[in-house]
Amino acid sequence: MLRTFAVLAVVAAALALPPQPRAVSLIVANGTVVTVDGSRRVIAPGSVAVDGRDIVAVDTADRIAAAYRGRDTIDAAGSVVMPGLVNTHTHAPMVLFRGLADDLALMDWLQKYIFPAEAKMVSPEFVRVGTRLAALEMIESGTTTYTDMYYFEDEIARATKAAGLRGVLGETVIQFPVADAKTPADSLALTERFAREFAGDDLITPAVAPHAMYTLDPDTLKACRALADRLGIPVVIHLAETADEVKTAQEKYKLTPTGFLDSINFWGPRTIAAHGVHLTSDDIAILARRHVGVSHNPESNMKLASGIAPVEALRKAGVAVGLGTDGAASNNDLDMFEAMRQAAFLHKLVNNDPRAIPAPVALEMATIDGARVLGLERSIGSLEPGKRADLIVVSMSSARQTPMYDPVSHLVYVTRGDDVTATIVNGRVLMRDRRVLTLDSRQVLADARAMADKVRAAVK
Ligand SMILES: [Zn+2]
Repeated sequence: MLRTFAVLAVVAAALALPPQPRAVSLIVANGTVVTVDGSRRVIAPGSVAVDGRDIVAVDTADRIAAAYRGRDTIDAAGSVVMPGLVNTHTHAPMVLFRGLADDLALMDWLQKYIFPAEAKMVSPEFVRVGTRLAALEMIESGTTTYTDMYYFEDEIARATKAAGLRGVLGETVIQFPVADAKTPADSLALTERFAREFAGDDLITPAVAPHAMYTLDPDTLKACRALADRLGIPVVIHLAETADEVKTAQEKYKLTPTGFLDSINFWGPRTIAAHGVHLTSDDIAILARRHVGVSHNPESNMKLASGIAPVEALRKAGVAVGLGTDGAASNNDLDMFEAMRQAAFLHKLVNNDPRAIPAPVALEMATIDGARVLGLERSIGSLEPGKRADLIVVSMSSARQTPMYDPVSHLVYVTRGDDVTATIVNGRVLMRDRRVLTLDSRQVLADARAMADKVRAAVK
């Protein structure tokens, strides 16, 4: 009896004590937390608790401090904490062609400079050096997930994974002989090998990347779709980027590029169409019906004068629209903050309506909607418990950002990539206090400069 009393007393004492805080791997504390969750909560001051690769709680700083103890803490006072940015279209190694040739029409630029430079330069070493440089730039500017299409994509995947970034990475299939394949069939075999190597990987989602409808015959396009279906992986393709592409489709098939691809049953879910500049209302209806995601690349489209994608009409039709930078050769950087701002400005101007693409929509396009485009909205794109811990800390203390009335306005209209101070992917801190931890920055830059000397010689 006495013993029972003693046990009860101990239990009662334990119940009276405040609960012990749960130990977690990381707390990002005391920031203005812009969640981009279903109710678009902004919590200030707020904190995010991360354990392993997952977000376990997003709440006020007080509640997180009471309930969790972090083995590591990042102080985000004076900063915004937000989901990492999702770049839905780029060609990472093309950072090595940054500024090589500007102010040219797309076909001149491609055929006189980019394709010949690629023919001479692209190798496993080239894509490794380029991907490391791109990864460094993305980590420094707050991109945590990117979508790629290039050559030697398995090398790109290894460099991406080593840098700690998340990627949907497509091995390019194109009709003419390229550095890693003599024929489209070779590319498809390469894609399959690459997809099997990274099947089930935490960070890398392999994809099939048919270049475009105008650079591939119908049989190869069908084979790309069949391979993606068989392996259960996404498809990445350029779509209706220029008026020339539409003309080609009309001459060859008497259809629009979107209509032609529909006629061969190419479209399906987890298909990422880059650009979608020249689309009819029928095209938009097809993309909506087939659940195709569109990557909008305002800077590349402006620089190459390709045209203006009907982003508002796509969104109204229910098509997921994300933002992309495109390759750095046509941008010329990978800064997704700039992509947000340019998207907002461009659509206000073209619609003659300053209410078009307001700041919250631009932010959604760079985060949760980008995740939807990639079919990853259940794991990334917002700060919510249960999602992967892909988040960034953005300093809001510079003169340019002072004062701050509305953090979302600031993220879109004044913030630059350089304002990012910490980048976390899958719970791993890739950059802290602006120091990148997963890459040797000096070596990456030195390697890129050395490779640029070879590029210079190759295009002479
Ligand atoms: Zn592209």
